[in-house]
Amino acid sequence: MTTDQTLGITIFCTITVVGVLTLLSVYLMIGMAAQDYGNRHERPKARPVERPSAGVLFWRALRRKCPICGRGDVLRGYFHMNQSCSGCGAVFWKNEGEWTGPMLIDFIFALGASLYAWAALVYFSYSVAAQLWLTGAIAAFGGIAIMPWSRSLWTMFLFVTGEIEVAPDPTK
Ligand SMILES: [Zn+2]
Repeated sequence: MTTDQTLGITIFCTITVVGVLTLLSVYLMIGMAAQDYGNRHERPKARPVERPSAGVLFWRALRRKCPICGRGDVLRGYFHMNQSCSGCGAVFWKNEGEWTGPMLIDFIFALGASLYAWAALVYFSYSVAAQLWLTGAIAAFGGIAIMPWSRSLWTMFLFVTGEIEVAPDPTK
């Protein structure tokens, strides 16, 4: 095995380990929030009658649909979010500070994508210039590509943690 190959594999393994640990902590965090959700009977916030399963929630997030009803779109354009759900009226995000969560997802995704690309470029002995340009391009592209999903995933996360209120039915 050449030095480049060893280096490439080392980089690859390091990112994978860090990535798995990050995913594990996110999983535990969401799991805890979800458990909390079930126990929180005393909160006066209006709740949907039926709580969708984790699989349904993820599927809705991937399709960028409302986590509560699965009908309304979370986004109205590539970068623009809808204020509330057109299906059930739930307000997705109430304050501006909630941009930090999706930005973190964008950042981690861009970083991960570029590091994996870098590992591959090193493995195949690409020039240093190619390594710089390609990893930079992949980071920029990855960060932009993930944006709609980081927003819908974050919306799902806010729902699981009980931050999203279901609007009262105006017909009642
Ligand atoms: Zn909805």
